[in-house]
Amino acid sequence: MIPAQFDYARANTLDEALSLLAQTEDAKILAGGHSLIPAMKLRLIQPPLLVDIGRIKDLSYVREADGQIQIGAATTHYQIESSELLKKICPLLPECAGHIGDVQVRNRGTIGGSLAHADPAGDWPAAIVALNAELVAVSKQGERVIKADDFFVDLLTTAVEPGEILREIRISKPAGTAQAYVKMHHPASGFAVVGVAANLSLNGGSLCAGASIGITGVAAKAYRPTAVESSLHGATLDEQTINAAAAHAGDGIDTNGDLFASADYRRHLAQVYTRRAIEAALARAA
Ligand SMILES: Cc1cc2nc3c(=O)[nH]c(=O)nc-3n(C[C@H](O)[C@H](O)[C@H](O)COP(=O)(O)OP(=O)(O)OC[C@H]3O[C@@H](n4cnc5c(N)ncnc54)[C@H](O)[C@@H]3O)c2cc1C
Repeated sequence: MIPAQFDYARANTLDEALSLLAQTEDAKILAGGHSLIPAMKLRLIQPPLLVDIGRIKDLSYVREADGQIQIGAATTHYQIESSELLKKICPLLPECAGHIGDVQVRNRGTIGGSLAHADPAGDWPAAIVALNAELVAVSKQGERVIKADDFFVDLLTTAVEPGEILREIRISKPAGTAQAYVKMHHPASGFAVVGVAANLSLNGGSLCAGASIGITGVAAKAYRPTAVESSLHGATLDEQTINAAAAHAGDGIDTNGDLFASADYRRHLAQVYTRRAIEAALARAA
């Protein structure tokens, strides 16, 4: 449980971090370290250099600008959980943050680290795809914006390239009028066996003008169940409609199975928790 030898450099600015990254092949960004350090201790990865971005102030913020919610990649889960701004304009994010690990994990872990790590059982990916977020990656060559649907590529793999740093997460306002995140916590790790984020736009009561749903824990990467979304779109969200729509939560998905939850059980949980997420969002909007 001791990592291989590595060098450490603390960056004070984003530019400095990018230069350090560019200098050493296979260097890794260190944010909260809650996923990276365990992986190094298990020697699953042996980076020659860690570039610590944890003290770069410009990477830690929650703000409203240009009709968007903007969140710096090094913002901790706790900062998001406790943001009064987000509680008002995008409650899905603080709610999702509150489901992550325990207080220590939320105080140290960052949204950018979690998204870049792309754990199939991580909570953020469900909310980020449900909110149609945009993710800004920066490198020495410049900046590019990646849509959430294109960001998660596979198990522990994202569209962030070597030499790039995830800088910001952007969400368009209004994000939705009814939102909720529900999760079945793994009893040992606390990670999501299944987690579902619902982001609904309602027209007067329960008429659904738009629905985007994100599901994590079930497959190699978070996904949007498009058949559920299209069944909800334009419908009055009564019990029968919600049940019928949620039944499609695992359609076309290659479902993970492990000792705790078989693939069939996970598919079933995806349906149950999708229904619960939609019901919870509706109850909050009422
Ligand atoms: C006990 C425990 C319980 C946990 N429970 C949960 C849970 O219930 N739900 C959940 O979702 N998570 C959980 N986590 C994980 C936690 O959310 C971590 O915070 C998260 O996975 C990684 O964030 P980090 O800031 O610690 O990143 P790090 O561990 O520092 O980095 C993770 C990876 O992302 C890369 N990286 C970091 N920041 C950037 C960036 N800005 N740009 C590019 N690459 C970057 C790193 O190089 C590394 O490869 C748990 C962790 C622990 C230790």
